[in-house]
Amino acid sequence: MVIIMKPNTPQSEIYRMQEKLKGIGFDVHISQGQNYALLGLIGDTSQINESQLLANTHVDRVMRVQHPFKRASRHFHPQDTIIDIEGHKVGGGHLLMIAGPCAVESQEQVLTIARSVKDRGAHLLRGGAFKPRTSPYSFQGLEEDGLKILLEAKRQTGMPIVTECVSPETVDLVASYADVLQIGTRNMQNYSLLKKIGRTNKTILLKRGMAATIEELLMAAEYVMSEGNTNVILCERGIRTYETYTRNTLDISAIPAIKELSHLPIICDPSHAAGKWEMVEPLAKAAIAAGADGLIVEVHHQPEQALSDGAQSLKPERYERLVKAVNRIAEIQHSLV
Ligand code: PEP
Ligand code: MN
Repeated sequence: MVIIMKPNTPQSEIYRMQEKLKGIGFDVHISQGQNYALLGLIGDTSQINESQLLANTHVDRVMRVQHPFKRASRHFHPQDTIIDIEGHKVGGGHLLMIAGPCAVESQEQVLTIARSVKDRGAHLLRGGAFKPRTSPYSFQGLEEDGLKILLEAKRQTGMPIVTECVSPETVDLVASYADVLQIGTRNMQNYSLLKKIGRTNKTILLKRGMAATIEELLMAAEYVMSEGNTNVILCERGIRTYETYTRNTLDISAIPAIKELSHLPIICDPSHAAGKWEMVEPLAKAAIAAGADGLIVEVHHQPEQALSDGAQSLKPERYERLVKAVNRIAEIQHSLV
């Protein structure tokens, strides 16, 4: 960390600051320029309260050299993390395909979709039993009955289950059915929820907040990891921009950026980014070409009758096309490395 003192700060104040920082365990090196004095701190600055430093009348700016996330950082863990979900791997060159309906509607619906996506190359089954809907009047999900439906689909197809957890109170319940706990965009900064899931032994699928920066997403992962659970898969699902043609704007650049900054697997959700089924396949292809470790895609056998997100749901035949296309792109990627 570098602390830049304001121009013309008296020497006595610079030394006072140096002594104070030495007193809390840092090596402090002063570089005196013509106008500015810089204090370079050596030591673990992750616990330093930047705002308290800035409150000092003689401090102009504070610059961090280290990223504020540690456990999620590639510096801390240079190799790609590979997560294994009942034999299905993600990260380090392993592509994970997750597919299923937005919401669990009935046993028949989930079984029909589960069988059709499994036959077409999906590894894990998704489906929301607790739905965080923008309107309180929209379908809110079947809750525990929905979790039972998912478990029965797993029993019949062998597909592990990915489902959303919306509150700290329901973590234990959802974890007793699911293999992967999904944290949705609206809850990415729900810190009590992140801490609670960090104390489970389930894999976490952490979706980017719709107005979150890449650093904020990695700090959310840090919350989970600092509680002991390091099995975190990140997910780029589009962010809010001024563009209204699509539901969100898929931030493709987040994929290589996260690969650079973090060792955690990063997958893409083209469905919630697009909001339109026609755009799901092109966005999926772009994400895999950019280096994503997998996809989570909404699929429904009767999108016109879906209780949630029908407009962005692919029919099974379209999903088949998407899987074939992205597998070919992934093969080309591998041949290039
Ligand atoms: C979902 O996956 O159905 C969902 C609600 O996603 P998001 O949190 O990204 O909107
Ligand atoms: Mn949805």
